Amino acid sequence: MPSITSDPNLSRYASRARGMSASEIRALFAVASRPDIAFLAGGMPDTSALDYDAVAAVTDEVIRTVGPTALQYGGGQGLAPLREQLVTVMAAEGVPARADDLVVTTGGQQGLDLVAKLFCDPGDVVVAEGPSYVGALGAFAAYQAEVVHVAMDADGLDPAALAATLDRLAARGRVPKFLYTVPNHQNPAGSSLSVARRAAVAELAARYDVLIVEDNPYGLLDFKGEIRPSLRSLAPERTLYVGTLSKILSPGLRVGWVVAPEPVRDKLVVLKEAADLCQSNLTQYVAERWFATQPWMAQVETYREVYRERCDAMLSELAASFPSACRWTVPTGGFFVWVQLPSGFDSRGLLAKALGARVAYVPGAAFYADGGGAEQLRLSFCFPPPDTIRDGVRRLAGVIEAERELVSAIYAAGR
Ligand code: PMP
Repeated sequence: MPSITSDPNLSRYASRARGMSASEIRALFAVASRPDIAFLAGGMPDTSALDYDAVAAVTDEVIRTVGPTALQYGGGQGLAPLREQLVTVMAAEGVPARADDLVVTTGGQQGLDLVAKLFCDPGDVVVAEGPSYVGALGAFAAYQAEVVHVAMDADGLDPAALAATLDRLAARGRVPKFLYTVPNHQNPAGSSLSVARRAAVAELAARYDVLIVEDNPYGLLDFKGEIRPSLRSLAPERTLYVGTLSKILSPGLRVGWVVAPEPVRDKLVVLKEAADLCQSNLTQYVAERWFATQPWMAQVETYREVYRERCDAMLSELAASFPSACRWTVPTGGFFVWVQLPSGFDSRGLLAKALGARVAYVPGAAFYADGGGAEQLRLSFCFPPPDTIRDGVRRLAGVIEAERELVSAIYAAGR
């Protein structure tokens, strides 16, 4: 591949495109298919847990009953009967909405892109958890927004740190366009915003007059089926809610959505039409029939069980084999564990050694817009089977242990 400096079009690109590069995770996917690698890097759901006969029956029914419409263009807001079903899905996760408040998008990712396109001029500030979902950071960067991170811990975003950040920005005359947050089983940290903190975040958003972008792919994937109040339920007039079927059904359908107050929704429909005219009618109908005719919650429960078992495998192996100087989060749902390495470590530099030991993770730096994350990394338990997870964690423990010995030998030699 030619290097960016030898790119003959460099001077022609729009300024927003000049600094763009492939995400760290995308580059890692090149190794994902190697069977000898324990791939603890990807965030793919394990769609082999889907009931394929049911998916086939639903798809067949769509083609036979509404084929000509399903294979035609649709409206920019998305199929009305699907929007009705998505309201039912949201009701199951504590998110109040009406079908008319909703715009169907190509996954939650397009929802984030359209929201950033609608609100962010170059140099605008977006406040986001540190660490944050890499795809959201990519969308914000594409519109040249400046991301200001707010610290989080085992209970999610820290409201005191949020208030301090909003004060600091206000003192500099900066008004953030919105707060971006993943309150449930966050990607990459694996932690969830506590109930008390949800009320505090909603209260701060009102006090500082900040919009909230609540991104919730993992809300239904709580291992115990626990549902916490959504930020949208606490601050409906100032929350844009981003949903997706990728983790509770299939990412291949590319069905996501944004719930927004009416004037924002109208603009999102215009942007959606400018981006791709409309969502695929075919996959919208398949999704609509899935929720209207199938025991979809039983499928969610199957997914939960798959991920709970894999999370247990990861956590028990971390406890058994990781050096005691490491710390990690203990997720109660979702796909991810966030690991804190001993100080002085560089998770990016360590990756080559990990790949040499046939285990892949995502370096923490991918999840910060400000250069943070060197001593952290993300492990995902969503895709490989439990034995592979255990092997991978064990191998990674060996790599970290060897590095620790090296680091202490260097320190000792320098003393
Ligand atoms: N938000 C978060 C936090 C995610 O983890 C993901 C997928 N990894 C998305 C949004 C987007 O997913 P999709 O476009 O498949 O809905």
